[in-house]
Amino acid sequence: AQERYASLREKPAKARCGSVVALHMNAGLMADLPSLDGSGAEGVGLFRTELQFLVRNQMPTRTELANLYKRVLAAAKGKRVVFRTLDIGSDKVLPYMKRQDEPNPALGWRAIRVGLDKPGVLRMQLQALIRAADGGPLTVMFPFIAQYEEYTAAKAELDKALERETILGHPLPSTVEVGAMLETPSLGFAPTKFFQEVEFLSIGGNDLKQFFFAADRENERVRRRYDTLNVSFLSYLEMVVERCKETGTPLSFCGEDAGRPVEAVCFAAMGLRTLSMRPASIGPVKHLICRVDLDEARAVIDAARDRGEMSVRRAVSDWLRTLP
Ligand code: PEP
Ligand code: MG
Repeated sequence: AQERYASLREKPAKARCGSVVALHMNAGLMADLPSLDGSGAEGVGLFRTELQFLVRNQMPTRTELANLYKRVLAAAKGKRVVFRTLDIGSDKVLPYMKRQDEPNPALGWRAIRVGLDKPGVLRMQLQALIRAADGGPLTVMFPFIAQYEEYTAAKAELDKALERETILGHPLPSTVEVGAMLETPSLGFAPTKFFQEVEFLSIGGNDLKQFFFAADRENERVRRRYDTLNVSFLSYLEMVVERCKETGTPLSFCGEDAGRPVEAVCFAAMGLRTLSMRPASIGPVKHLICRVDLDEARAVIDAARDRGEMSVRRAVSDWLRTLP
């Protein structure tokens, strides 16, 4: 199937209206990296660092982590890699960490909450990332930021790690880009100052959808109950896009839905111009984006919203069928 899209590999995802959508890939293991060339991804929009912790039976050391991140950056050959700091808890439990008994793990002590309350592992990871950058650029993203202060506190940890590494004589990264994942609806309503301060935002649609509709992403009974193209969800995305535009904050979408062509077109039509997805989705998504006019897509979406439809899926699918 990848071969079918091979001719598109070197081409941008340029819609008929002229807008270009940047397509990046999600990764988490060394084995994912070769796909960076094969898929035509512009970079790694989400590197899930917890996968490295989950495949081991003991906590990695700082040196092991630094070597691993170095190999990731070497394999990326200068393309941008967004390292998301450890996102554990909820569905991702480390076998060598004491299990927390929580009634609602998805709403519990996870991701940056663990990182800020017990900063040992986060600090080690940040130092390893700085060492791996070895004087080159570094991009770090903090998961599950629900309020402004969590971002500020996480960024302060990064600043401390940079100081510590300087004292230890390690070279500092040439540039450090720091961003947050928007995975809880609350963050979209954060003060404007947050949007001004954060250097980029990436929407974690898997978690965002789970909390937006209060529907467990792991529960087969409810996980497909609410459509991603539900007008309420799209209107929320629209608001986030607008707020980011006002402050000039780069915004991307890195949940699984970005890899579904119809969803990708709708997100792009709502103004999201950077999407990150599993490598095999890049070809099909690019293929569809190149066939559409995003302004037309937006008009179809707006008309469905005006008609009071629950989801724009039917209207968009009908319109896509009329394309040459
Ligand atoms: C998300 O929540 O959309 C996301 C990208 O992170 P994960 O799937 O790893 O929770
Ligand atoms: Mg998530």
